[in-house]
Amino acid sequence: MTTDADNTTISIVIPVYNEADILRDCLPALDQALAAEDIRHEYIFVDDGSTDNSWDILLDISRNRPDLTLISLSRRFGKDIAVFAGIGRAAGKAVVVIDADLQDPPAIIPGLLQKWRQGHDIVIGIRRRRRGENWIRRLAAKIFYKLIQTISDCDLPPDSGDLCLLDRRAVDVILQFTERTRYFKGLINWIGFRRGFVEYTREKRKGGKSKWSYMQLTAFAIDAITSYSRLPLRIWTLAGISAAAIGFCYGVYVFVYTIVFGGRVPGYASMVMLILFLGGIQLISIGVISEYIGHLFLEVKNRPLFVIREIKAPDEKNKAE
Ligand code: UDP
Ligand code: MG
Repeated sequence: MTTDADNTTISIVIPVYNEADILRDCLPALDQALAAEDIRHEYIFVDDGSTDNSWDILLDISRNRPDLTLISLSRRFGKDIAVFAGIGRAAGKAVVVIDADLQDPPAIIPGLLQKWRQGHDIVIGIRRRRRGENWIRRLAAKIFYKLIQTISDCDLPPDSGDLCLLDRRAVDVILQFTERTRYFKGLINWIGFRRGFVEYTREKRKGGKSKWSYMQLTAFAIDAITSYSRLPLRIWTLAGISAAAIGFCYGVYVFVYTIVFGGRVPGYASMVMLILFLGGIQLISIGVISEYIGHLFLEVKNRPLFVIREIKAPDEKNKAE
């Protein structure tokens, strides 16, 4: 609704996938959080191909709201890509990204803005506590953050939440990225800039349910790690070198033994063990290499990152595709 020239405008980007149960509570909560802020804002809701009536609800709540832009993607592209679609349309001097389900409370937004005004280019919400998540999910999250911190060049703070603020500077950099696997949290921590952190308690979902199954979360973690680290590839080079060295030593031993004591037939058990062990290692290493080839495959196709079905913007003429 405003232009870049207006330096006090911020954009709020909200990805939405099947959030009909809670969507009507979302906007009032955001309005309330921003009420005390003397700052102009625009909301950009990105419907990530919802199969419920989320889009109709969005159309309904956007009536008489000149500060709402609605983007409908042609199918489900995943949250991170939906966020990119929204950021691409954002005109604000800063962009806040927040989930539609109010798990990351909008009341934190003033805290993010304060850090931004203090000169931080990227402000990241850190989950102090995760309410309503079972211990398996918490443990998996812990392992994931530890792993990515240790083996990648992406300084991802543990427990960094989905809530964040990006200054226009950071937004412009992020929009230049062309890679297909968009792990948003990874990217915003990879690009550098001055980062600030705001702690908060993650609430339970007030309605609907989490969109991620354990399978999806695992696939997501593999994608994230292989996008930011080459260590999984290197491990197999090291494993290969070690196996070859051990094999060589064993070969020398067998050779010397045969010379000194003559040939011997027994050894079935050790043969089977070696075949199984090395076969297993080879299969795992092929799997890991395939992950990277999969990334290459996606990059080479160079398809558009997302497809927009419809946009409802206050000045639709300018914004229509
Ligand atoms: N979401 C999305 N596309 C998806 C999955 C989720 O746009 O494929 C949105 C969802 O509507 C919500 C946010 O991303 O606003 C976070 O999703 P969810 O609450 O399921 O994730 P969790 O909080 O369990 O990590
Ligand atoms: Mg959630």
